[in-house]
Amino acid sequence: MTQFSDVAFDGLYGAAIMDHYRNPRHRDPLPSADMSAHEFNPFCGDEVTLQAQLDEAGRFARISSQSQGCSIIQASASMMAEGMEGKSAEELEELARLFRELMQGREMSDEGLAILRDLAALQVVRQYPVRIKCALLPWTALEEGLDELRRSQRV
Ligand code: ZN
Repeated sequence: MTQFSDVAFDGLYGAAIMDHYRNPRHRDPLPSADMSAHEFNPFCGDEVTLQAQLDEAGRFARISSQSQGCSIIQASASMMAEGMEGKSAEELEELARLFRELMQGREMSDEGLAILRDLAALQVVRQYPVRIKCALLPWTALEEGLDELRRSQRV
């Protein structure tokens, strides 16, 4: 979508999304990780590698979220990483469930919106149905990583 100027981009997706796209958070890879997951969407070339280190209490203390592809996956991966910090596996499963509901167009309760916080800005992506997959790809990586941690009884 490089045919759009930055100004048009801001208008389409909103300032919070574009800020994360231009200044992605948590991009540095972690030297060692308790959780790692990788997802690739051959349809649009989007790619994400997610890593996390847990503290003794099982909380997600350090996150690395490296993405390549369109503006939406990069913004979603960055916003997700920021939202993951300090959370438990249980809280992240709830966050991922709420985010999927948001993308599916489900009405959000005030409680749900309070949990999603900045991530609620990504609901604008629903207006561009082909981009919903882009927004969800980092979350698929998170869900797979969480499943793997559960299977190995790390959380
Ligand atoms: Zn994409």
